[in-house]
Amino acid sequence: MARLILLLGDQLSAGLSSLAEADPGEDVVLMAEVAEEAHYVPHHKKKLAFVFSAMRHFAEELRCDGWQVRYTRLDDPENSGSLIGEIERARAEIDVDEVLCTEPGEWRLRQALAAVPDLTLLPDTRFLIDPAGFRAWAQGRRQLRMEYFYRDMRRRTRLLMDGDQPAGGEWNYDHDNRGTPPPGTETPSLPAFEPDTITREVLALVERRFPDNFGDLQPFALAVTRADAEKARDHFLAHALPRFGDYQDAMRRGEPVLFHAHLALYMNIGLLDPLDLCRRAEAEWRAGRVPINSAEGFIRQILGWREYVRGIYWLHMPRYADVNALEARRPLPDFYWTAETDMACVRDAVEQTHAHAYAHHIQRLMVTGNFALLAGIDPYLVHIWYMAVYADAYEWVEMPNTIGMALFADGGIMGSKPYAASGAYIDRMSDYCAGCRYKVKLKAGPDACPFNYLYWDFVARHRDRFARNQRMGPIVRNFDRMTDERKAEIRADSARFLDALVPAGSRWNG
Ligand SMILES: Cc1cc2nc3c(=O)[nH]c(=O)nc-3n(C[C@H](O)[C@H](O)[C@H](O)COP(=O)(O)OP(=O)(O)OC[C@H]3O[C@@H](n4cnc5c(N)ncnc54)[C@H](O)[C@@H]3O)c2cc1C
Ligand code: SF4
Repeated sequence: MARLILLLGDQLSAGLSSLAEADPGEDVVLMAEVAEEAHYVPHHKKKLAFVFSAMRHFAEELRCDGWQVRYTRLDDPENSGSLIGEIERARAEIDVDEVLCTEPGEWRLRQALAAVPDLTLLPDTRFLIDPAGFRAWAQGRRQLRMEYFYRDMRRRTRLLMDGDQPAGGEWNYDHDNRGTPPPGTETPSLPAFEPDTITREVLALVERRFPDNFGDLQPFALAVTRADAEKARDHFLAHALPRFGDYQDAMRRGEPVLFHAHLALYMNIGLLDPLDLCRRAEAEWRAGRVPINSAEGFIRQILGWREYVRGIYWLHMPRYADVNALEARRPLPDFYWTAETDMACVRDAVEQTHAHAYAHHIQRLMVTGNFALLAGIDPYLVHIWYMAVYADAYEWVEMPNTIGMALFADGGIMGSKPYAASGAYIDRMSDYCAGCRYKVKLKAGPDACPFNYLYWDFVARHRDRFARNQRMGPIVRNFDRMTDERKAEIRADSARFLDALVPAGSRWNG
């Protein structure tokens, strides 16, 4: 009897464990675009188009390789609207005795699939450590620091190792990742991929079905096939990786990508293999084409951070979705959706997110994330925003980054201290402040950079908690040394600014 191979939207990999188990001559692959997935957060239009188009292309490739594929389009009249409904519909029409699926990446889906009879879940071998392996690593450790996890992963995968020593002599070249490009530095442009007939159909569908969703649908130039994603990968390795290390933390107005890879969306959907990408980055260094701070910095993000956040997600779900250690309750401000704010750094990050469904890590962490942290925005609402607006957003990776890394809402599972910063950090790492209506050097008053007083207001609000934190202690002591007048000024400036924030409409606010 045939088996049904349920293939999810982010499982577009030829080497997927469920496909490896299946028989193309006997078994039927089920793929479905369903309303439930398209609507559970208000996804960016480009993200929807990217996922649907990549799914349709992958289904075509499977058919060409001899697979029987049952594909439900979003606008099929028979579409039940849910994955479970599509499994049931398929089972009513085809005689199947088992449903095979590679483990879904998200808790929500794993829970939903638990109700499917005769379901076999297979491990997702595209990751370099499975949740059980991460749990074993975490067992008995007081703190789960990414750096130690990363070193273990280097040893385990043999990436960037010379014998039992780190290649180049050091495990981590983070100290060489903090430059800013001098004015006039040319940045490589991303390769653009012309939409084909399938993509054009999807673009029309998204425009029709999701006219009010956030984001620009056009121009659409993303890769939607593995072959094109590999072209994007090769372009990155040749043109951006050499300077990725130097300028990893830099931000520049109107330059969304700088020397970043813009490859997370392709890895997360399954079009690129993370281990292969790391090996290629290492080969570039060994061939003398990129410096060690670039190769190591890049590999650390994938082998270290990417695997680490997934481990944290599975270790702590489902509780992780509800954590709110700092008791942040403020609604998400409207400017996260409209970009209508005088803060030039936030405006630029939101505008380019609207245009490209992309912002690089430092913008996500130190601009929009930092603002949400300092202003005390409800972590769940911030999580929904990040899930919705980025083309690479899937809960297993987005949630720990948002709730843990950016908002410290997990109380320190991911980081030993919050990534809180005043305007001086943004000024040092970007060219935003020169074009801002606020003055980054001013600490108080209506013209002062809001990050400056909000930073101290944040420290004041959490003074007792942070006084106990080894790394925040000195900052708390600086705050304590301020005069009462200065403290009152910080409180008043912050209250004035925060009270004037316009909350996003209920549609966008949970
Ligand atoms: C608040 C917040 C939300 C985030 N949400 C997501 C998300 O939904 N999806 C996502 O893939 N990443 C997320 N990240 C991590 C990171 O910002 C993105 O992976 C990165 O910006 C993607 O762009 P890039 O491909 O150009 O990455 P690069 O900066 O070029 O980095 C190379 C690769 O390393 C990996 N990587 C780097 N940093 C991280 C990280 N912290 N966690 C996991 N992987 C990492 C990515 O796969 C990325 O493609 C988030 C970070 C923050 C602070
Ligand atoms: S002055 Fe403050 S708000 Fe304006 S761009 Fe600089 S950091 Fe952002």
